[in-house]
Amino acid sequence: MINKLLVANRGEIACRVMKTAKLLGIQTVAVYSDADANARHVAMADEAVNLGPAPSKESYLRGDLIIEHAKTLGVDAIHPGYGFLSENAEFANLCKSNNIIFVGPPASAIEAMGSKSAAKRIMEEAGVPLVPGYHGDDQQESTLKKSADEMGYPVLLKAAAGGGGKGMRQVWNESEFTQALNAAKRESMASFGDDHMLVEKYLTRPRHVEIQVFCDSHGNGVYLFERDCSVQRRHQKIIEEAPAPNMSQEIRERMGEAAILAAKAINYEGAGTVEFLLDEDGSFYFMEMNTRLQVEHPVTEMITGEDLVQWQLSVAEGNALPKTQQELTLNGHSFEARIYAEDPANNFLPSTGTLHLLQPPEQSSLVRVDTGVIQGDEVSVYYDPMIAKLVVWGESRDIALKRLLHALGDYHIAGVTTNIEFLKRVASFSAFQAAELTTTFVDKHNDALFAEVKRDTQAKLPAMALLAILHRRLGKSMDVFDKHSHESSPWFTTGAWRANSTYKEQVTVLVGEEEFHAKVNHTLGGETSEAWEVVVGDNTFIVSGSINNHQLRANINGIESRYTFAVKDDEFGLFNQDTHINFSVVAPSHGDDDHNNGNSNFDAPMNGTIVAHLVKPGEQVKKGEPILVMEAMKMEHSITAPSDGVVDSFYFEPGELVDGGALLLEFTNADS
Ligand code: ADP
Repeated sequence: MINKLLVANRGEIACRVMKTAKLLGIQTVAVYSDADANARHVAMADEAVNLGPAPSKESYLRGDLIIEHAKTLGVDAIHPGYGFLSENAEFANLCKSNNIIFVGPPASAIEAMGSKSAAKRIMEEAGVPLVPGYHGDDQQESTLKKSADEMGYPVLLKAAAGGGGKGMRQVWNESEFTQALNAAKRESMASFGDDHMLVEKYLTRPRHVEIQVFCDSHGNGVYLFERDCSVQRRHQKIIEEAPAPNMSQEIRERMGEAAILAAKAINYEGAGTVEFLLDEDGSFYFMEMNTRLQVEHPVTEMITGEDLVQWQLSVAEGNALPKTQQELTLNGHSFEARIYAEDPANNFLPSTGTLHLLQPPEQSSLVRVDTGVIQGDEVSVYYDPMIAKLVVWGESRDIALKRLLHALGDYHIAGVTTNIEFLKRVASFSAFQAAELTTTFVDKHNDALFAEVKRDTQAKLPAMALLAILHRRLGKSMDVFDKHSHESSPWFTTGAWRANSTYKEQVTVLVGEEEFHAKVNHTLGGETSEAWEVVVGDNTFIVSGSINNHQLRANINGIESRYTFAVKDDEFGLFNQDTHINFSVVAPSHGDDDHNNGNSNFDAPMNGTIVAHLVKPGEQVKKGEPILVMEAMKMEHSITAPSDGVVDSFYFEPGELVDGGALLLEFTNADS
């Protein structure tokens, strides 16, 4: 019996696990780092213990400390969530040797699947179909490259210890091999402390379909159908759904049985996921098995009506599975969208900051929000930038999709850049609506998806300009404009406005990394009259409106809309069903841009660590050539040359920590 459960994790998954534990009357213990002292998962737990400083290595990965606290507090079982210690065989063993139940598979099963290459060998023997590739121990570059050359390009390099798309690189031809291998190895070493690689044939149009399996300690195993996780960016899932659209019952059963075969081959117990690539002709290949609860498990819960955490706890107590294969039914359709603090337009770079406004959609049995944050919380550089998972259910895919779009529309977040607009774009995109899903979906439709995002932002400029003007009139945002104060520009006038004045001003707003411009003509407006002329490109809009509390009422060319807005320092957030924009107002540049040698491109995009200099000081580089690699939020980011030129010097050495915004290097344009 489990009476007291320690959740060795943070964020949404810690909250998710505790929710079920509470329903079952199980007492909960949270663990937290210094950065998370006020986090939601800590508040939810009956007891909580501090593990140490923010970096995971010094807190959430301290298995020894966690066990020590568990013993002191009389904990019967530890749920590891996903990530952190969830797939750490040593930790599973440590639990066992201390008489604490590890809510997960036996250590031997984790070990067997912990290395992608070893896992492939086991599956090959068990007769589970594999993607052609090299998964041997010989790690010499020449051996790896030879296997790629023989297989034919494109190939995919994968970290044997990998996960979450880290340590993975596509290689399209022979000449790219060495650079890609080095980058993949570096990323793998940084994330997993190991740089063992495998080489696989890269399938160009596969779907990612995975099977949820469950096994107990009595030899029973069932599959809870499949999830389609094809829509990804940088090999990381963004929208998942269950069941997989257009999946025949015949393939579902064959894949389900192959997944059980895979689980039985390693004497699996508990919740696991067997990932397959499904090719266009209906053939499928084993990719890997995740020996934990997945991020996307809620879509399975929605279509089966089962609580997978409850199943996990029951199996961990030694009970038989709650249901047989025949008793499990698949009902309706479910989507999960991962809400991230990131900037899709800037290569999905993680965004950090304080969540000044956090308004999730209304929840019901049809709309579920799994989150670990509350308004006012910080999205820091230390952990994954996922803010929440939005999960919906519908009788059919079409109904569920419509519900997803509406719920995304109701999700309003200010303070960090989010991917919500992008998710809405994807979910309303014709190919997505038609379920034409492959893992290359985002890349393939990249131009169309982003062109629309940009058009959308442009269309919102009149409302954004109106908000800025009205807010300035209220006099609440003096600091916004004082900061960039320029006396001759009325845009920066903080005092009273002249009624019926006749000046025009250029309004520049920054959305993510991109600037947008509008001209505002004050001939019509001012202190007393209530309308302005806003010119965006070739279009002219007559705008008027008012603000009250956090509501903006905007009338644009006679059409009334209502918005929620947030303002903090110089950041505005503007929201309604169709609008999710975080922006700041920019001072006009009075400098002479011709003399800019481009150094502004070399600011660190965020707090992080320098990984490598790819050139030497004094070295000539070509436009677009990568010159420096930094790591932030466990992802590598390359800084590339904006033009042909010379790197004069680097300000930080590999291994050094840098603050976001710090100048990283000195660069001279070839033609300056
Ligand atoms: P991770 O453990 O890092 O998540 P996976 O092995 O699960 O890595 O692969 C992640 C994603 O990469 C898959 O969902 C798929 O989109 C893509 N992928 C993996 N292997 C291949 C392959 N051989 N060909 C094409 N795409 C692949």
